[in-house]
Amino acid sequence: MLSKDQIEFLALYDIPLDKVFDARGLSKSEYESEMKKSGKQFAYNVTPCEKYGHKLRSRSGHCIQCNPSVIDFIMRHDSNGIVYIAGSKKGQIIKAGYTKAISIRDESLNRTKYASFNDWKILFTLKSLTAGKIESELKSVLLPYKRVFYYEHDDHQQKSDETYSCSYSKAKAFIIDMCKNKKMIFKIEKEIQTKEYEFRNLKKLS
Ligand SMILES: [Zn+2]
Repeated sequence: MLSKDQIEFLALYDIPLDKVFDARGLSKSEYESEMKKSGKQFAYNVTPCEKYGHKLRSRSGHCIQCNPSVIDFIMRHDSNGIVYIAGSKKGQIIKAGYTKAISIRDESLNRTKYASFNDWKILFTLKSLTAGKIESELKSVLLPYKRVFYYEHDDHQQKSDETYSCSYSKAKAFIIDMCKNKKMIFKIEKEIQTKEYEFRNLKKLS
């Protein structure tokens, strides 16, 4: 259990309790690997720091009470968030992406005419403390289906690099299989059942 002082410290630095891992009985390399899998950033019940006997450490083993400056850096690079699949019928393409706030994402895709289309619809969302990592893995799996669009936005030439000629069901299966294979912890938040986004799977010749 966290002590009152530890809870106060975590609150002071805006560290959510779901980022904190109980490392009791685990060696440094054991808790580091467990924490990476589950997206935890800070450990308690670790060996006390030499200087003051603090028992809160970062994943890499720094005493965060002696070195609170590392907290900001760690939290900025935290990949907690949402991975989503959106589809455009006009473009016959899907988009896979990562965001911290899904509620306005399809509105913003349509407002900016992402890839030059304005009929984007969010079809699937998955929440995870390691969403950023899931997204980058997903991008490499989808790479053979990647299709780049050039379009105008704000008087600038833009390039879409998260668009794929691939069916919704295939992209969805890729995400779920990949998460399971890599033992990622995730929760599906939205999953629209539809056959309307079963676009052709056009694999690039390599
Ligand atoms: Zn310390």
